[in-house]
This record gives sequence, C-alpha cells and structure tokens, in this order.
Amino acid sequence: MAAYATCSIEFDPMTTVENSSSALPTHALPSYLQADHLGPWGNYLQQIDRVTPYLGGLARWVETLKRPKRILVVDVPIELDNGTIAHFEGYRVQHNLSRGPGKGGVRFHEDVTLSEVMALSAWMSVKNAAVNVPYGGAKGGIRVDPGKLSRGELERLTRRYTSEIGLLIGPSKDIPAPDVNTNGQVMAWMMDTYSMNVGATATGVVTGKPVDLGGSLGRVEATGRGVFTVGVEAAKLIGLPIDGARIAVQGFGNVGRIAGRLFAEAGAKVVAVQDHTGTIVNHSGFDVPALLEHVNSTGGVSGFSSGEALSSADFWSVECEILIPAALENQITKANAGGIKARLVIEGANGPTTTDADDILNDNGVLVLPDVIANAGGVTVSYFEWVQDFSSFFWSEDEINARLVRIMQEAFAGVWQVAREHKVSLRTATFIVACQRILHAREMRGLYP
Ligand code: NAD
Repeated sequence: MAAYATCSIEFDPMTTVENSSSALPTHALPSYLQADHLGPWGNYLQQIDRVTPYLGGLARWVETLKRPKRILVVDVPIELDNGTIAHFEGYRVQHNLSRGPGKGGVRFHEDVTLSEVMALSAWMSVKNAAVNVPYGGAKGGIRVDPGKLSRGELERLTRRYTSEIGLLIGPSKDIPAPDVNTNGQVMAWMMDTYSMNVGATATGVVTGKPVDLGGSLGRVEATGRGVFTVGVEAAKLIGLPIDGARIAVQGFGNVGRIAGRLFAEAGAKVVAVQDHTGTIVNHSGFDVPALLEHVNSTGGVSGFSSGEALSSADFWSVECEILIPAALENQITKANAGGIKARLVIEGANGPTTTDADDILNDNGVLVLPDVIANAGGVTVSYFEWVQDFSSFFWSEDEINARLVRIMQEAFAGVWQVAREHKVSLRTATFIVACQRILHAREMRGLYP
C-alpha cells in the first residue's frame, strides 16, 4: 500500500514536502539520484537548478529532468582467453524519452559508474533537444579497461552486454552509438547481436557503424566537425581570427584529433596536446598529420619527436587562444580554471568543466561553448545515419556535411540570441532552449494514465 500512496502523490508535480498536507517527501530523490557535488551527476543537477528560473510555467515539470526515466544495471560475464570467467558491470540509462527514442553512446572505461552514465544520459537529452533532433537522451557503459582485453574477449563482452540491454534498445526505442573506447567495430558487433536476437537485420539499432553496414559517411568526423563549426562561429562573434590562433587540445581521440586537424587546416596552430599517455607542447605549432601518424602507430601523443614533454597540470596554463577539452569529465576544475589563458573554451568532451570552474571562466571573460551544443555534431550525423537506415537510401558526404554545418550554425545562433536576451552564459542559454523543448513535449503528451 505504501508504494501505491507514493505513486499517487507523484502525479502532482507541484506538491513539495513543505506544502504537502501528508508531508510525504514526493520530491526527495532516491539515494542513487542525489547529488554527489564532485561528480558529473551533481554538476548536472546544479545546471538544472540554474535554468529553472527561466522555464516559466514549464518549471512545474522540472522534476522530470532530475530523475532518469529508466536505469538498467547488468552483470556481463564472459569467458576470458585463459578459461576463467570474468564479470563486468554494465549500464544503460534512459534519461528522458519525451521527444523521441533514447539516443546516446556506450562507453568502455574502468572508471565508468552509474552516476556518470546518468549524467551523460541527461546531457544527451539536453543536447538532442538543443539541436532539435527528435530523440530523448540515453547512455550506456561498461566498467572495464578494454585495453586489457583481447579482440575476442572484447567481442564477447560487447555481445553479452548488447544481449543484456536488449530489453531497452531497438531502432525505435533506444539507439546506442560510439563513445570513449568504443568504435565502428563495437557498433557492428552490437548491431549483429541485436539482429540475431530479433531474427532480422536491424541496422537502425545503433549508429556510428562502418559505412558498409549501414553507417553514414561523415559520422566518424562529425563531432570534431561540429566542434570546429561552432568554434568558428563563436570566434567571429568575439573578433578572434582563426588564422594563427593557438589551440590546445586535451584528448586526441575521435573528437580531439578531428577538431585539431580542422582548425589546423583553417590556419590555426595546434600548440599543445594531452592524452592518457602524456602532454606535449610546441609553441610554433605541430605538424598535425605527422602527429596523427605518430598516435596511430604508438597509441598516444607521448614521445612525438617535434614536441617537448610538459607536466599534465601545466597543460591548462599553456598560452593559447582556444582550448578544447575532448577527453573526459571534470577536467577543468577550480584548481586549474584560474590559470587558463584561452579566450575560448570549446567543450568537445561531455562535462569537462565543473560548475565552480565554469563560474571562474565566466568571471575571467573566457567564453565557454558548452558540450551540449559544441559536441552535438556527432549525434546530428547519427540522426542522419538512422534516417538513411530507415529509408535504405544513402546520402553523399558533401550533403551530410552541409546539413550538419547548417544545423550546428542555426542551433548556435539561437543559443547565442537567448544568452544575450537573458544575459546568461551559453551553457544556461542552451539549457533554456533545450529544457523548454523537452518539458513542452512532456506537457503536451501529458502524464499516463
Ligand atoms: P576516444 O576514446 O576516441 O578518445 C579519448 C581521448 O581521451 C584519447 O585521446 C585518450 O588518450 C584521452 N584520454 C583518456 N583519458 C585521459 C586522461 N586522463 N587525460 C587526458 N586524456 C585522456 O573518445 P572520443 O569519442 O574522442 O570522446 C572524447 C569525449 O568526447 C568524451 O567525453 C565523449 O563523451 C565526448 N563525445 C564523443 C562523441 C563521439 O562522437 N565520439 C560525441 C560527443 C561527445
């Protein structure tokens, strides 16, 4: 009975502990949803609190954004090559499905936690709404260091995980994609496993697939291209010429290397790069294609001949005009934000800046292009891939890039306008645009039953 009573109160989202006559804690978050203020979920909750005053009447629905719709935690057992059985913890979180099926990547990393995946799924809801693609937000992950697995072990892990989350995913339900340490091959295994389980090839169940398996041209480069596109737009608005601008990039994987390459091709100088192997600096600018070859052959930037090694802490105070964090969350913190020399920070990664650090950057006049708009190029081309898979009609790369650039430019211009109107940061402005879209959809759909 107690469970029914709690459910019935939840139907009135305006009821709070203070004004509820029964004093039922209808807004108390379950313990696993409460803010760990040092973690990504805590950062996300603070971002929602900041946007709430701008939501007008839609604020009555804001609690929707503070709790993921569904959380699935799965055990992923696999047989290792040496015959032993290993168990890994996997997650799939659907944060919000008001605007369409869930969409968001799958991360393989030894530090993945449920609270991290919850935050990443929530940022996907915001990002998808910010660029107005018809998706809700989701994210998944496995707590594993994939570098320690053989190819066979990695394939078994991916297939078992896909089967375990098969309850939630599907082309019209929830569509995973690559994230940190996952790629087109992992997506191919996921697509095959799901297809085997349903008895028909379902290319639309994941995006970021190899082009020969229903993937889209331009997808691999899309996130970096989006980072570049909004970076160029913002640079114009603050009078910063790209030609000759000095760039520092953290993370030289899918996102960081493409963004770095596109900026270098536009005349900028990539002067510092950091990845999990180390930090290198070259004040005259790296030969980016040569650096890419070095990373491809050695697995990281460390040891690149034309760069000097730098301590990882000193990376943040390198002299540059543009800083692109494109690795993991919580990299720009109150400990290093004050030393940042860049005029523009473009968040290629999800959640790289803590709320405290965000305030320091804003106070110091550093313009931050937030993740929820800056790295939305990847999901935008994932959307194109999904549309192409449904229609089995594939577009040219030029067409894809042109549509991507148009969507990113329009979304950025809209957010810039809202930021000026309300005199708020671009992050809060993006949250205003996105949360209004999500909650408006929520309100129009109404509560079931
Ligand atoms: P990736 O696995 O291709 O690359 C990750 C990079 O980060 C690597 O260069 C790695 O060396 C570096 N790295 C890892 N740990 C580090 C550490 N402790 N310090 C410094 N560098 C470290 O991943 P990716 O796809 O490029 O994703 C990077 C970020 O971009 C993530 O936050 C991801 O969520 C976000 N993102 C990715 C996409 C996409 O399409 N791939 C889309 C949107 C956002």
